Amino acid sequence: HETVYAIASGKGGVGKTTTTVNLGTALAEAGERVAIVDTDLGMANLAGFVSLTPDSTTLHDVLAGDASIDDATYRLADNIVAVPSGTSLDEYAETSPEGLRDAIEELRSQFDYVFLDVGAGISHETVLPLGLADAVVLVSTPEPAAVHDTKKTIELTERSGGSVAGLVLTRTHPDGDISHDDIADRLEVPLLGTIPEDPAARDSVYAGTPLVVFEPEGPAAIAYRRLAMSMTGVE
Ligand code: ADP
Ligand code: MG
Repeated sequence: HETVYAIASGKGGVGKTTTTVNLGTALAEAGERVAIVDTDLGMANLAGFVSLTPDSTTLHDVLAGDASIDDATYRLADNIVAVPSGTSLDEYAETSPEGLRDAIEELRSQFDYVFLDVGAGISHETVLPLGLADAVVLVSTPEPAAVHDTKKTIELTERSGGSVAGLVLTRTHPDGDISHDDIADRLEVPLLGTIPEDPAARDSVYAGTPLVVFEPEGPAAIAYRRLAMSMTGVE
């Protein structure tokens, strides 16, 4: 199976970090060894989703050449670790994304699955992970603006030599007037799954606990577990 997945979007705020954390946690609960990595260097916030307070070393230090990836790896629960990024602009300024390739290859050798939470948009540090991952998972809401921006992420993936696994539609509504299959068809990518709108998603961020742990029987948690299984074949 593919090991390194980039979780990417054109538009921000569509559910990339939520998807990274919950896919990773669902697979860890199923016994797979998982690393989730905050490669959203400019707007890092993955650590907050899982109540992680890194003592000092983050991916920024690794990319600045001041630390090894192991020093920036923190255990979250059984089978799952996170690599957070620093959150200050100063740390960001000192980062050079070039070291990302080595860091990812190191994680690849240690884990069954590595999920990269990629920044939105089209900057260099966004594009790099798209080409380094084995497969790119596109995240979008059904909103036309978000779907439209997804096209750009597909194009960037192709240009950087990466390959698209498919689309995850988030925050869907049962009465939505656009068919989810039509959205994927229009983008010419497989529909990997849909995650319904669920207030527990936001509540879980405030709680600093992955949704699949915070409200395991809620609709979004169930959908994330189903997505994890269908993407990987893991039950
Ligand atoms: P991104 O990483 O793409 O910027 P986030 O994962 O941070 O997006 O999600 C953006 C916001 O949307 C957060 O407040 C999050 O709690 C909320 N959210 C994500 N998925 C859902 C969902 N399925 N239902 C309701 N709210 C959601
Ligand atoms: Mg995010």
